[in-house]
Amino acid sequence: MDTIAIIGGGPAGLQAAVRLRELGFEATVFEEHEAIGLPENCGGLISRSGVKALGLDLGECLQNEIRGAKIFSPNGTMLKILCPKPVAYVIERKEFDQMLARKAKEKGVKIAPHSRLIDIHGQSLFFKSKERGELKKAEYVIGADGVNSAVRQLMGTSISGQNFIHTAQATCTGNFEKETVEVYLGNFAEGFFGWMVPVSNEKARIGLGCRLGKNPAENLQKFISQKYPDAKSYGTKSSLIPCGAPLTGTQLQKGNMMLLGDAAFQTKATTGGGIIFGMKAGNILAETIAEHLKHKKPLSQYEKNLAPLNKELRMHWKIRKYFDGMKNGEIDALIAKLKAKGIEEFLEKEGDMDNPSKFVGKLAGRPKFWFMARTLLDIARS
Ligand SMILES: Cc1cc2nc3c(=O)[nH]c(=O)nc-3n(C[C@H](O)[C@H](O)[C@H](O)COP(=O)(O)OP(=O)(O)OC[C@H]3O[C@@H](n4cnc5c(N)ncnc54)[C@H](O)[C@@H]3O)c2cc1C
Repeated sequence: MDTIAIIGGGPAGLQAAVRLRELGFEATVFEEHEAIGLPENCGGLISRSGVKALGLDLGECLQNEIRGAKIFSPNGTMLKILCPKPVAYVIERKEFDQMLARKAKEKGVKIAPHSRLIDIHGQSLFFKSKERGELKKAEYVIGADGVNSAVRQLMGTSISGQNFIHTAQATCTGNFEKETVEVYLGNFAEGFFGWMVPVSNEKARIGLGCRLGKNPAENLQKFISQKYPDAKSYGTKSSLIPCGAPLTGTQLQKGNMMLLGDAAFQTKATTGGGIIFGMKAGNILAETIAEHLKHKKPLSQYEKNLAPLNKELRMHWKIRKYFDGMKNGEIDALIAKLKAKGIEEFLEKEGDMDNPSKFVGKLAGRPKFWFMARTLLDIARS
């Protein structure tokens, strides 16, 4: 019997597997696809602070370094945040996942490709493997199986469509500013935004997210031709991003089943970024299971141990909700006011793309931003 079955060989599941091995426990990663990292569909933008905190050596996955962002309101008003040093990296996602898988294998993690989880009954797990059914046994199941998690469904959790963003993203060639990502706000990307993540001066990933039912692929083509008229796009892919509060209680852990990463909504609702948070949560879950196996600590500790991470994720969710309620004109007015009050300089000094708690309190403490006091206090109380 496998002690711990990890469903899904993405960054969150692989990191949990590595950490479990470091703590002395057996873990098998079951991945539905033949190869780790495929199909690839990601902007590949991760924070420098997150990379440092996780002790990652990006090696050949590193494609670009980012010093800031340009944020455009619907009428074109721009906030430009440019830091003196890189604050984020652009990675080649397939290589990144495969690098994590190599590290996991070196530590002794077993990876079972072609293993699609279909059902769970107690400690019995049913997989579909190359058109054949397979039965495996495991004492604990980690559902790190992404946004459409089968484990989440088998735990009986159903999530309404309002908590998902439908995205389309293409690879583009053209002329891009290598050091800044670009973000376009407005009702053309209702509930989310349009983005450009530069891989180099000649290549970028351009994408757009919106609520379900709004046809992001069609909107993306319009977005690219309007904002990047000289760009040539290819390889458009569509996918969902979880966009809601992180799961808690029996939605997070039920009996021997636990959710992790996108499956658990451990994704920043402001940007859709989930690599760093999923991996950090992977470490926390591995340590929780180790404490359970060594010292009989309850698995419900997982939620308690996630508290600092979930505080940040809830802040991201509140910031997202604040923008969601706004019409184009209101976003224009807000961006113009923030620019006039010096938000660019403030974010260059104090901004943190992962941890809003590091700057929301400071923002609330500056009288010139008190016009947003109620919102800032609400976010800070997450
Ligand atoms: C267009 C787009 C752009 C993005 N850009 C960024 C970005 O720039 N930065 C960032 O941090 N995040 C980004 N994200 C989000 C990021 O991709 C996810 O947050 C991250 O991949 C979550 O990791 P995970 O390990 O939880 O899940 P995943 O990476 O989704 O891995 C889940 C794995 O489980 C497997 N699986 C699924 N079901 C089963 C099953 N039943 N049985 C077995 N295996 C199964 C899948 O094949 C997959 O390999 C983006 C997402 C999208 C869609």
